[in-house]
Parts: sequence; structure tokens; C-alpha cells
Amino acid sequence: MIIVLKPGCKKRTVDLIMKKVKEQGFTPHAIVGVERTVIGAVGDDRDKHLLEALEAIPCVEKLVPILQPYKLASREIRREPTVVAVDGAFFGGGHFGVIAGPCSVETEKQIVETALKVKKAGAKMLRGGAFKPRTSPYAFQGLEEVGLKLLAKARKESGLPFVTEVINPEDVEMVGEYADALQIGARNVQNFSLLRRVGKFGKPIVLKRGMSTTIQEFLMSAEYVLSEGCNDVILCERGIRTFENATRNTLDISAVPVIHERSHLPIIIDPSHATGVRNYVPPLCFAAMACGADGIMVEVHPDPQKALCDGPQSLDIEGFAGVVKRLKELSKFSGKKL
Ligand code: PEP
Ligand code: MN
Repeated sequence: MIIVLKPGCKKRTVDLIMKKVKEQGFTPHAIVGVERTVIGAVGDDRDKHLLEALEAIPCVEKLVPILQPYKLASREIRREPTVVAVDGAFFGGGHFGVIAGPCSVETEKQIVETALKVKKAGAKMLRGGAFKPRTSPYAFQGLEEVGLKLLAKARKESGLPFVTEVINPEDVEMVGEYADALQIGARNVQNFSLLRRVGKFGKPIVLKRGMSTTIQEFLMSAEYVLSEGCNDVILCERGIRTFENATRNTLDISAVPVIHERSHLPIIIDPSHATGVRNYVPPLCFAAMACGADGIMVEVHPDPQKALCDGPQSLDIEGFAGVVKRLKELSKFSGKKL
């Protein structure tokens, strides 16, 4: 249920209504908008009649049921787009955030050099996996905590915040101590205990769509994170599995307008995992901006031929710099801030 408050409602009254919502067995989430505050009361739908008495409070304008199964992620609860800020990188509400970096952290030289160079080219955030979810148990699994330390070093040298994937619920605190934002990979999009754990931790989350996740399921996964109190969720479309095999996955570009219609959360595009092919990455970065996405996450390696993971889809530094240059030109038409 959404409790819509009248404009100018005092904080004291908001707190009082939140308390009353809790007393009825619902969890209140205050969403402070430009004009007015609304309170989302999330709980068992069968008990919603218990909230009806709130309508008598003078500051309450009306009660509106949330029709979608996802509540906190839905546009119904928040009409304005959410802007997620990660230490100088912004996603959503007219901001186009650029995240770049290698698939995995390999050496100090590799990650520090990449960080310095992608920053110079215009990236606002660094990516790099320290825990890699590989299809084969024999493939490189990442440097784990050593990789996190190297990412922290790259952040210190470059000033770029970083996002890195966390795979196990029990590693969330450790990875979260180092990272500026936590990534949930495609394979874990419905790992509900992991989603709850990162939601509780509180740092911003980059949530990747699974290869066979519908948009509704994707938004339900975001709901798990939001319901634990974390408001900073960046959704990431990274390609879905179809019959087409010319590309690694099929980029579902239509997910961008669909998600913008249904949710206030920012949605970014990962053209690297969507295609698996370096040459297809730049056109899809431009498509991301053209269709109104809130950013991109791109794999960049200083020497893609030698990459331990995903070299064929990684741009080199020069290729990435060319993409950002063109995106800046396109931003004049799209109205997005890079
Ligand atoms: C990644 O971004 O490092 C990754 C493994 O991607 P995905 O989870 O989308 O496959
Ligand atoms: Mn990769």
C-alpha cells in the first residue's frame, strides 16, 4: 500500500505514521520526493484493511494499493527516477554513468594501468572481478581477497570508485569492506539469500539480469535488495539467452524502456557480456545512450590478447577512449550527462 502524504507534511508526523504502519505488522519505507513524501507499507496483502484507519490522519491525502508484485522497485511508489551516486559516478535521472575495466583482476600492473587509463578516457567507475563465477571449475577463478586489495590500490592511484562481484553470502562483509559497490552476477540474480545479505549491507548494488530472467523476475530480485533497506540499486541488462548464436547472448535493448516505464531504478547496459565480440561492443554502447539507458559497463583490458578471462569481448584502451569520445558527442543530442 502507498500512503500519500500532503505536501509540507512535517517529519514528526511522518515518523508517527511510520510507527503506526509498523504497529499493524507492515514495514514502512519513506520515499521523499521533490513535492511530497509517500510511505510504502510493505507486508501481507491480506492485512491491508488494517491500514485503512490511517486515512483519517489529517496529513494523509490518500491510500493507494500497489498493483505490481514488486512494490519498492515500482514506478507506482516513486514517480521520479532514482539517481544512484557512487562516489562521483552517477546513474539515472539524466546521468549516464560509464563503468570500465577488465573482466578479472590479474596483476597490480594490469589493474592500476587500466584504472589510470580508463579514467583519463572518461570512465567514472572501475570494474574488475576478484571472485569469478566461471562455467568451468578448471578456469581462472579470480585472485579473491588479493584481487580486492589490488582494486583498492587502483582506486587510490586513480581516484575511481570500483564495483566488484560477490558470489557467496558469507563473503559480503569482506568484499563490501573494500568495494564501493557490489555486483550481483547474472548467475546469482535469484540467489535470494545473497540478495538479502547485500541489501542489508547497504552499499550500492549493480544487479545483473540473469540469462533467462524475465523483466518481472528481475524486478522481483531488485525488490529483495530494496526490501532490506538498500535504496541504491543499479539494474544491468547483459543479454539473455535466445536461439541466436552469432553472439554470446542477445542484448535485450527493449528492456530499457520497459524497465523505465515500470521502475524508478536506473538501468545500464553491459554490451560486452551481451555480445562476446569486441567489434559489436561500440555500436551497442551508442544504442544504450540512444534508447535512454542510464549508463554502460564495458570490459576493457590493456592487452586483450593476454586477458585471462573474456579477452575476445574486451576493448583495448584506445578502443574504449574512442567509444567515450563518441558518447560525448551523442550526449549533446540525447540530453544525458556523461
Ligand atoms: C561480469 O560482469 O563480470 C560477469 C561475470 O557478467 P555476468 O554475470 O553478466 O555473466
Ligand atoms: Mn567477463
